[in-house]
Amino acid sequence: MNSNLKNKVAIITGARRGMGKADALLLSQVGAKVVVADISQEECQLVADEIKKNGGEALAIKCDVTNKKEIEEMVKKTVEKFGQVDILVNNAGICEFKPFLEMTEEEWKKTLDINLKGYFLCAQACAKEMAKQKSGVIVNIASVVMGQIGKGMAGLAHYSASKGGIAALTKTLALELAPYNIRVNTIAPGAIDTPMAASSKIDPKMLEATLAMIPLHRMGKPEEIASTVLFLASEDSSYITGSIIVVDGGWLA
Ligand code: NAP
Repeated sequence: MNSNLKNKVAIITGARRGMGKADALLLSQVGAKVVVADISQEECQLVADEIKKNGGEALAIKCDVTNKKEIEEMVKKTVEKFGQVDILVNNAGICEFKPFLEMTEEEWKKTLDINLKGYFLCAQACAKEMAKQKSGVIVNIASVVMGQIGKGMAGLAHYSASKGGIAALTKTLALELAPYNIRVNTIAPGAIDTPMAASSKIDPKMLEATLAMIPLHRMGKPEEIASTVLFLASEDSSYITGSIIVVDGGWLA
């Protein structure tokens, strides 16, 4: 096993809470210098302070992933502070239930802008640095709600389209970036117990029905996604690129 990330620099978007925070804490524990990025500078700082208190290195950066200028600034500050960008965890996302027949163009655009355009912009900005170094890893967080190998979910037309887009983007980026020794993979989480899941206002009956379909009969923990992020970010997965790894307690089984 080679999950040591000593001297590696990781940018994690949407890292003030939920899975992104769990990723930041775990990657810092194994030696990575971590950039905690999200839309609230204060809350990013709290996570960065926690990492530093535990003996790690971290930098808090306010970055809205729909804003190209803020993304470029985030990459610039990362290189100024830590000298390089080795790992990007594209994690920031939203999930707002709305019946398809009532969905507005604005709601569709908001979700696609954050969940898909944001992944493109962050991947491109980081890959430009990684290409110069001739090494890098991009881990995209999609969802089991993405069609193809995954499933659909009523009320999430925009979300499922964005997550399916991430899966497609992953495969193409894996091809285009392999010559630069940059690996690109996607994790498709099932139902994970995070603030997003809590705030999605999922009908308790729907949650019960969902849990009944999950062979392990429980939601996953953010740490159970973070351990997969670490695997994909490390040399343990050195021959894996263009893959979609499902972490769902057996939901799709
Ligand atoms: P979370 O707790 O809501 O964390 C996501 C973070 O991203 C939040 O801090 C959120 O801030 C931030 N964010 C939203 N818009 C942003 C923007 N424009 N720029 C930067 N940051 C932004 O959610 P999570 O459950 O950890 O989800 C993390 C990822 O996993 C998402 O991509 C999600 O779609 C995916 N996922 C989650 C589940 C699940 O069951 N939880 C399952 C499958 C996939 P705000 O709260 O202010 O919006």
